[in-house]
Amino acid sequence: MGEQRWRGLGPVQTDGLECVVCAASFRRPGSVSEPVGRSDTGSQVFACQGRCLAVARAPGAPDARRLTFWRDNRRDGEFSLPLTEVAALFAASPWAEVAWRLDRKLRAFLTDPECAVSAVWDDHAGYAALVELVGTAGRGEGAGGT
Ligand SMILES: [Zn+2]
Repeated sequence: MGEQRWRGLGPVQTDGLECVVCAASFRRPGSVSEPVGRSDTGSQVFACQGRCLAVARAPGAPDARRLTFWRDNRRDGEFSLPLTEVAALFAASPWAEVAWRLDRKLRAFLTDPECAVSAVWDDHAGYAALVELVGTAGRGEGAGGT
């Protein structure tokens, strides 16, 4: 196996300036990153040391870290999104600010017809990884105690 290929990254992630897992910027002083493979364009990409690095190097990554959805609960409405993109959509949505447990508001966000995903899923392992990912990204913003 060669280096991991990362698809569906944002432009700044592709440039290696943001974590491929949580999208944190490496331009912040004190951020520590490690290379985790290459983007579609062949540029080297990075993840934060610690949890993000573990997620990035998990067996099956990065392809396993897409979540398959069904739009409007229709069999022909199948599509999939990288977990990182779902996490970014969630963080940008009003649901991220709601004072609910993460799991509850994440489910509300994913099925909200007003939001970008608006779909159902049955990939429970993928969903669990998404909860972990969003929880990691939101830490330090009072997103959930210890
Ligand atoms: Zn990260």
